[in-house]
Amino acid sequence: MVTGTGEEIKAAVAAQRDWVSQLFDQLRQDGLDEPGVSRDPYGAGEQRAHASVAAIARDLGLEISGDAAANLYMTLPGRDRSAPRVIVGSHLDSVPHGGNFDGAAGVVAGLAAIAALKQSGTMPDCDLTVMGIRAEESIWFQVSYIGSRGALGTLPDGALDVRRIDTGRTLAEHIAECGGDPAALAAGTRHLDPAGIRAYLELHIEQAPSLVEAGKPVGICTGIPGNFRYPNAWIEGANDHVGLPRRFRHDAAMAGAEFAMATDALWAEHDARGIPMACTIGRFYTDPAQHGLTIVPGTFHFSLDVRAYDEAVLAALDEKVDAIIASIEQRRGVRFHRGPKARAAVGPADPAIKAGLTKATIALGIQTLDIGSPASHDGAAFAECGIPIGMIFVKNRNGSHNPHEAMAISDFLDGVSVLTHWLSANLGS
Ligand SMILES: [Zn+2]
Repeated sequence: MVTGTGEEIKAAVAAQRDWVSQLFDQLRQDGLDEPGVSRDPYGAGEQRAHASVAAIARDLGLEISGDAAANLYMTLPGRDRSAPRVIVGSHLDSVPHGGNFDGAAGVVAGLAAIAALKQSGTMPDCDLTVMGIRAEESIWFQVSYIGSRGALGTLPDGALDVRRIDTGRTLAEHIAECGGDPAALAAGTRHLDPAGIRAYLELHIEQAPSLVEAGKPVGICTGIPGNFRYPNAWIEGANDHVGLPRRFRHDAAMAGAEFAMATDALWAEHDARGIPMACTIGRFYTDPAQHGLTIVPGTFHFSLDVRAYDEAVLAALDEKVDAIIASIEQRRGVRFHRGPKARAAVGPADPAIKAGLTKATIALGIQTLDIGSPASHDGAAFAECGIPIGMIFVKNRNGSHNPHEAMAISDFLDGVSVLTHWLSANLGS
C-alpha cells in the first residue's frame, strides 16, 4: 500500500539532510588515514564506524543487536514481528586509504529511509532492519562477503583460518576481538534464516562512471557479477643468464605478460559481442629478491579476478583461462601454480523488486539508468540463499577504492527517496 506521494516522500527524505551530512563527516573523521579513509575489517577503523552508526540508530529509537560475525542490526519493529523482515544493508569496512562512501552510504541510506518513514507516520507491516555488514572488502582477508556469509551460515570452509594481510592474524582472532563468536561460525550456526527474509535491498555508490556519463543521479541494478579468483598465483620458469638464446629460455615474466594479454583479448572479444564481464590482474610482478637487469626471470607472481553476470558465461571463461594457461605452459616451458581459488556466485536482481524500484523513480520524477553492478556486493550472498535482492546505485565521480570518491548529497538523497518509496509502497500502512 502506498502511504506517501512522491512529493511527500521527497520532503521527508530531504528533512534528514543535516544529520546525514554530519554522519558522513563523522564517519570520515572516524576512518581518516591520509590519503583517504581506512576502515579495516574487524579492526579499529570498522569498529569506530559501527559505534558512530549505532549511536544514530539509538537516537532514532531502533532496536540494536548483533550476531556471531559481529554484524550490526538496527531494527524498526513492524506490526507483525513474526512476518519475514526486510533488510536494508551494506558494509562498513573500506579498502586501505579508500573513500568515505563505498559501503557506508548504504547503511546511512537505510537509517535515513527509516527516519523518513517514521516522520511520515508509516508503520511497516514487518520488521525493517538496517544491517551494518562486516568485512565485505576482500582485499584484507581475500575472502568475499565475510560478514553476510557469516550471518547466513555460508562462510566457505577454512575462511576462519585465513590471515589478514596486514596483521597476519586469523579471521577467527579478529572476529573474537570485535565481540563475535568464531566457534559458533565454525559450527555453521546461522543467524539469518533465508525463510525469514522477505527482501534484501542495498544502496551503493556506482563504482564506474555510467551515471556521470548519462547525467542521471540514480541507477537501478540489473545484477551483481559472480567471479572466480586466484589471489596468489605464480609462474615457475628458470632464472638464467641474460644472454641465453630464446629457444632455451623458461621466462616466467614473459609467460605472465602473455597471460595478461591473452585474458585482456578474451575480454575484448566478449565486449565486442556485448557480453558483460571484466578481467583484472591486480598484482603482477617479478620477485624483487631475485630479479635484476641481467637475469631471465624464473618466477612471476600475479592475481586474477574474472567476473560476469551469468553463471554459464563464468563457467566458459573459467575453461578458457585454463586453456590459455595450458597453451602458455606448453609453448614456453613454464608451470603455472594457480594457488587457492575463490569463487562467488552471480547475484541476479529480483525482477519484481527491480520493477518496484523503477516505479518509485517514475513516481518521484528521478531520472535513472538500468546498470549491471560493476562490483561485487553482499547482495550476491543473500541472492545465493534464494533471498530476493535489489540494488540502487548513486552517481559518483572518480570511481571507488580510492580517496577521490565524490558522491553529492543531493544525489544520495534521490537514492534514499527511491528506497523510501519502495519501502513505503511495499511495507507501509
Ligand atoms: Zn562496497
